[in-house]
Amino acid sequence: MAEVLEKRALLTEPTPMMQQYFDVKDQYPDYILFYRLGDFYEMFFEDAVTASRVLELTLTGRDCGEGRRAAMCGVPFHKADVYIGRLVEEGYKVAVCEQTEDPSLAKGLVRREVIRVVTPGTVTDGSLLAEGKHNYLAALFYGDHSVGLGFADISTGQIYVTEIEGEDRIRGELGIYAPSEILLSAPVESCRAVTEYLAARPCVVTDSLTRLFDETCAKELLAECTHAKIDALGTSVLLRSVGALLAYIRETQKCEPTFVSEISVYCDGQYMELDPSTRRNLELTETMRAGEKRGSLLWVLDETETCLGARLLRSWLSRPLVSVPAILHRQSAVTEFVDSFSMREELRDLLTGVLDLERLTAKAVYGTASAKDLRAICRSIEPLPAIQTLIAGAKSQNVRGIAESLDTLEDLHDLLDRALVDIPPFSVREGGMIREGYNADVDYLRSVGGNSDAILKEIEDREKAQTGIKNLKVSSNKVFGFYIEVTRSQADQVPAHYIRKQTLTNCERYITQELKELESTVLGAADKLCALEYELFSDLRNRVAAAASRLQAAAAGIAALDVYRSLAEVAVKQNYTCPEVDVSDVVEIREGRHPVVEKMLSDCYFVPNDTSLNTSSRRMMLITGPNMAGKSTYMRQVALICVLAQIGSFVPAKDARIGIVDRVFTRVGASDDLASGQSTFLLEMNEVANILKNATKRSLIVYDEVGRGTSTYDGMSIARAVVEYTAGKKLGARSMFATHYHELTALEGVCDGVVNYHIVAKKRGDTIQFLRKIVPGATDDSYGIEVAKLAGVPNEVIRRAREVLAEIEGGKPGETSLPRPAKAAEPDLLDALKESEAEEVADRLREVNLDTLTPLEAMNLLFQLKKMLSC
Ligand code: ATP
Repeated sequence: MAEVLEKRALLTEPTPMMQQYFDVKDQYPDYILFYRLGDFYEMFFEDAVTASRVLELTLTGRDCGEGRRAAMCGVPFHKADVYIGRLVEEGYKVAVCEQTEDPSLAKGLVRREVIRVVTPGTVTDGSLLAEGKHNYLAALFYGDHSVGLGFADISTGQIYVTEIEGEDRIRGELGIYAPSEILLSAPVESCRAVTEYLAARPCVVTDSLTRLFDETCAKELLAECTHAKIDALGTSVLLRSVGALLAYIRETQKCEPTFVSEISVYCDGQYMELDPSTRRNLELTETMRAGEKRGSLLWVLDETETCLGARLLRSWLSRPLVSVPAILHRQSAVTEFVDSFSMREELRDLLTGVLDLERLTAKAVYGTASAKDLRAICRSIEPLPAIQTLIAGAKSQNVRGIAESLDTLEDLHDLLDRALVDIPPFSVREGGMIREGYNADVDYLRSVGGNSDAILKEIEDREKAQTGIKNLKVSSNKVFGFYIEVTRSQADQVPAHYIRKQTLTNCERYITQELKELESTVLGAADKLCALEYELFSDLRNRVAAAASRLQAAAAGIAALDVYRSLAEVAVKQNYTCPEVDVSDVVEIREGRHPVVEKMLSDCYFVPNDTSLNTSSRRMMLITGPNMAGKSTYMRQVALICVLAQIGSFVPAKDARIGIVDRVFTRVGASDDLASGQSTFLLEMNEVANILKNATKRSLIVYDEVGRGTSTYDGMSIARAVVEYTAGKKLGARSMFATHYHELTALEGVCDGVVNYHIVAKKRGDTIQFLRKIVPGATDDSYGIEVAKLAGVPNEVIRRAREVLAEIEGGKPGETSLPRPAKAAEPDLLDALKESEAEEVADRLREVNLDTLTPLEAMNLLFQLKKMLSC
């Protein structure tokens, strides 16, 4: 058996076919190359090894020269998209190399070329994309003094670009868009913010791409974006990052980037800033632990009906506003739908049929839309006139404005509806797409094909009469075409002009000149019909592509209406109120609630709490209270209410007044980040440093414990210094600081702006009852041991902890050394152990409900109890 090579470098004299493969592969070195051979796409050498692992394909071999075999695996051509999708999902880039001449006409080797490439950031096929999420491609141009950052969703045509000076903001921006692919002008090792970002969220990166970032090329490509709304790209770094995106779109899609609908430039301070750890801590779009939407703020807010609305809501949540007029503009639209039940309901019904108009339009532009996709566009634009009528009389100027500018696209709807059948087939090459009455030639060709049965019947009747053969049949099948069938017993009666074609067991089959001609007319008609239908379909697709900017504008209107309606729906269902948003320095909330915890607590009451912060006398709430009391929940609820208010939403409170917050920072208990080589404490201090360096007077800061990851004295000293700096005149931001260092409560009255609060809990016997109410003043009890008991820490340990605590509390003030370890008095310890076992058994028995226990469960319980008594 010939040797199988897994590495291409080991082959020096390839066969001609392998040489052709190498020539193509050399142009796409970092792509997995799908090389068309007959009915398969084959992969060779290193690509084959990777693909066989990722796609679970069998690795075989193919002769490649020198009597050796190249490692190979393949996928059937008609299933290629499924396999490409899986590779791209795993972060690979794929190039598809097709035969570009008819193999039967080729002299020698069939010509082959790469006809498309698919990369994680340039996917346009809706089936490979998450519905309610944008899929971004990022391009970063490193200039001498600043970095240009561009983000493109090529499945919807939007590009956002900004210029940044600090590394921290680069990470922040990458965190907002979470791109699935990054293009860099510089080597990745020199881009610190990018490497830090990638450590937490890896994706495909191509670096040192100077070629793509060429300024002249960028200008030429921009001139191609004829339909786009383009902001002025004032500087070279902005221009070059947009240029790289456009160049990459052209390279991967193999078409000019005419589909781009919007290139919008934004700058520092245009949106509320939320750094990556704050986004994670506040669980805006996904939960911290599982990374799921359920349990996040988006989960509470998302009552959208369309993917257009779902994507827009997600991006609003990622970038809350800081402009009061812009916030009030959104608020007025939400209010409109809160106030009008019927408008809300009717709009929801109308939106139900709207599919992903943005991505369907993109497919038309990229030439990959099928007749089914065009039908889906037709269906999606059908409700536009009714939507316009519904909202035309709205009180909100925002909603009325959408109505006035909404292009109802009736001409396009009419065209598509007239042209396409209700349920078109998947294939665009086999006909069956065009509706009767749309095109006279289609109708004619169809009548010829469709009438063949009747014509054959006519011939059969005539031949029967002429030959006198009663059971003569005229029929057709796919293999032999048209034929006359006569039983063998009557075969001697057939006329001379019948030409025998096939002999079966009981009968003979014949053809005649007349039948042959009829066959070619009918079959020719079928071929012509398919070709004509394809031509008409392509024309329709081009007309849809030509209307892309109108479709995108309509999609934007629908998306906004859907988000307003969704926010209103949530506001009504969850009993939210419209906050007052202004440029004051206050955060005043009456009876505020945590939107997510409240929704999760379906079977118990969420206790509302007030908040009052400003930048003068009440700059910092210093919050103490037992573990589990609700400190974290409270502080996050205040931050979330600010975020909600600034995206234009109603908020979970009786009433609220929010003076614009420019940035929200959170410092929340971190877990070790082993991958980045940072300890818990170092991460904690990183977060603190980031806050102290970047917060402004307008910021809102949440400190959920500071200084807990080091020794008590170090920690307390750091915590105190942070409190003094944050609440002090220099920074003076609005902040909340939760702590178990009760010593810090002494700062009220000493440090200006610090006010003590605590969350009330009551001790009942050995256990603790949480009241969840925040009240002014400090508390000095952490009830840590009670909470440990609640959590199921064994009684023996709980009892020992109480002993130690009593000894510490009985010591001299300031004494920190732990008391001696418990004496190793064996008999005592054994007694204690027995006692604690008995207590545990008693606890377990108290919990059991005998009425619902099955006999088997009772047996199991007995077994467990015995085990607990260690006998
Ligand atoms: P620790 O100091 O241990 O971190 P904590 O004081 O920060 O605790 P939280 O984690 O905020 O406590 O709250 C614990 C649980 O209490 C929450 O998961 C939630 O289920 C419940 N809870 C918090 N606040 C409220 C409230 N206002 N109403 C009802 N339940 C609440």
